[in-house]
Order: sequence, then C-alpha cells, then structure tokens
Amino acid sequence: MRKVAVLGSTGSIGTQTLDVAREQGDIEIVALSCGGNTKLMEAQMREFRPKLVSVWSEEDAKILRENTKDLNIPVLAGMDGLLEIATHPDSEILVTAIVGMLGIRPTIAAIEAGKNIALANKETLVTAGHIIMPLAKKHKVSILPVDSEHSAIFQSLQGEDGNKISKILLTASGGPFRGKKREELASMQVEDALKHPNWSMGRKITIDSSTLVNKGLEVMEAKWLFDVDLDRIQVVVHPQSVIHSAVEYEDGAVIAQLGTPDMRLPIQYALYYPERRPLSGKRLDLFALSSLTFEEPDIETFKGLKLAYEAMTRGGNIPVAYNAANEKAVALFLDRKIKYLEITDIIEETMNQTRFIDHPTLEQILETEQEAYEFIGSRW
Ligand code: NDP
Repeated sequence: MRKVAVLGSTGSIGTQTLDVAREQGDIEIVALSCGGNTKLMEAQMREFRPKLVSVWSEEDAKILRENTKDLNIPVLAGMDGLLEIATHPDSEILVTAIVGMLGIRPTIAAIEAGKNIALANKETLVTAGHIIMPLAKKHKVSILPVDSEHSAIFQSLQGEDGNKISKILLTASGGPFRGKKREELASMQVEDALKHPNWSMGRKITIDSSTLVNKGLEVMEAKWLFDVDLDRIQVVVHPQSVIHSAVEYEDGAVIAQLGTPDMRLPIQYALYYPERRPLSGKRLDLFALSSLTFEEPDIETFKGLKLAYEAMTRGGNIPVAYNAANEKAVALFLDRKIKYLEITDIIEETMNQTRFIDHPTLEQILETEQEAYEFIGSRW
C-alpha cells in the first residue's frame, strides 16, 4: 500500500490524484485538505475514509464536522491544519496540489518530517527553491515532479546518470491567445482566457497559461528541479501538446516523452516511481496526427515569460515578487477588477519596486509577498 496525503484534494490535480488511487486500488489516502469546497470534501471523506482532513476557515470546519459526525474523522482548519496534513505520521508521500505560495510552509514541514513530495505546486519551488532543494537533499527525500513538462523531463533523464545535458526543451502549447498581438489582447475577457486549447486545469493556472506566466514559472521550476543554468532551458511553442518536453544530451541525442494530454499519467508516475503501472485512457495515435509544429515564443507580446527570465536572472527575492504579483493580479483579473494586459504590467512594476534580498529566509519570502500585495493594493 502506498500511503498518500493530498493538499488541495478538491482541485484539478487533487481530484485526478484520487482518480489514480481509485483505479489502482492499492493507495491508502491518509489525509486530505481543501479550501472551502466542503461538499466535495465530504464526498471524498465518505469514499476514502482518511484519518485526518483540513479546510481553510474555522467556519467551514464546523460545518464539515457537523455533516460528517458519523465518520469520526477529525477536521482541522487554517495553516495549522495544512501543517498537520503535510506531516501526518502515517503518510509516505505528500501530493502538493494546492495553489499558490500557501504551499511553501507545508512542503517544508513535510520534507523535515521525511515525506517524499509529489510536487504540483510550482509556486513553492519558484519562490523557495533555494530552501526546498537543499532541505530535501539533507533529509534524503525525493521531489517528484507532477507538472507534465517536468515529469516528461524527469522521464527523459532516466538511465542517463552522469551524462551531460546540453539543454532542456520545455514545450508550451502557447495557450488560447497564441499568435495574437498586444492590441488584440487588450480586450480579452476572463471567459476568453479560461479557454485552454488542450488541457483542463484550475482557473489560476489556466490564466497563467494564457499570459505565458505559467511557462515562466515552469522555467524557474525546471532550473531548481534539474539544477541546470537558465540559458540551457529553451521554451519551444508546440501547439499540439503531444511532446510534453525533451532533453538534449551533449552528443546531440534528444530524448522526449510523448502522450495524450492526461495529468493522471505524471501523477501516477510520481506516486509509483520508478514503476510504471497500467493506466486507462486514450493512447497516442501517431497516424491520426496530421502534423507536429514548433515555434519560438513571442516574448514581446507575452511579457510573462520575458519577465520570468529577468526575475530568475536577478535572483534573490525577485522571483517571489514576480510570483506574488502574479497571484494577486490574476485574482484581480478573475474578479474583473483589472484588464487582461494589466496582469503583466502589475508583475513588472512590482518587480521593479521590490527591495532586493539575496538568499531570502522563509520569513523574508513571506514579507516580500506581503509587501507586493500591499504595493498592488495601494495602486490597483
Ligand atoms: P485548483 O484551483 O483546481 O485547485 C486548488 C486546490 O487548492 C483546491 O483543492 C482548493 O480547495 C485548494 N485551496 C485553495 N485555497 C486554499 C486554501 N486557502 N487552503 C487550503 N486549500 C486551498 O488548482 P490546480 O489543481 O489546477 O493546481 C494546483 C497546483 O498544481 C498549482 O500550483 C498549479 O500550478 C499546479 N499544476 C496544475 C496542473 C493542472 O493540470 N491543473 C498542471 C501542473 C501543475 P477548494 O476546491 O476548496 O477551493
């Protein structure tokens, strides 16, 4: 039995993690957490009978406790709840399927408690990679990528121990606005940005895909996960999303992972690594593919990617400012309080006014996040 805890079990990655558990039948779901979706959490509690669950607010916790009295499962709340879920003594693997920087503290706590991490929450590595990666090494825990691109890179690295990478080819679908110019982007609405051509995902990451901020976050995530210099990570727009990413070695060989767009595969690979298991679903039919195409990303129109390279090059707490500003800006856009192009304007201005701190501590990361929120609150 694999013993698994999930942060964000009601979201896109969280529910697909539970789909894998349902299909495989030998995963014990030890602990679950969500934000405020108590209805779905109740259904998950009844089906998987975890030992502990957590929701964000105490009010929701009270409702859930009342509705699930018959189950005798403790229901916690807030950050304390997330920390308890992350460190539950019976779990072996923590799936970090929560969205945003909220994932940092539970991920650190889980590593310190010796849990392997199936990492979907890329914001954690982007902002605290310099803390997370050495900590994981110290505690001898594995950080197993769930993001499809990083899983593809990870799969392409298998059996290549010691062989030198010349570059990582990180593929991008280009999102719903690929090919559009800035003038056209100016009038884009929430509904337009939420229409991803290939993947069905949570709202925040879908907006991030449309601005190419998601790709920017993934470049930073790849740098931390695979310890490669930024100039060796090349983003390649590949609208069909068939090649999930690739690694080029110094002899010129390019090893890639291909497949249909199905997040259950990278989730399952992370949970059972290094074993491959049968998985239901569509298979890639090469004869049905008319063509595979590739383009350079348009980083002048989609500033999100350009700013990510700038944030990572400046280093220190600037990626924190980049990420915090994006989280706030996306929330404002989803609330229809700002225009689409203001998302990247907000990121740029926040980065420019951030006081630089090299090697920020966890407290300084959280302070930078807070300062970014205050700056944005005072301006927009
Ligand atoms: P969703 O928005 O679908 O789900 C987010 C989850 O986090 C939900 O369970 C939500 O609970 C929970 N949550 C939100 N706020 C809180 C809170 N304050 N306290 C506790 N839990 C909270 O996101 P995704 O599944 O799309 O993404 C999750 C992470 O995985 C992100 O970092 C994303 O970048 C990454 N990722 C996602 C991919 C995808 O295909 N979706 C692909 C690769 C990476 P509730 O439902 O109750 O609000």
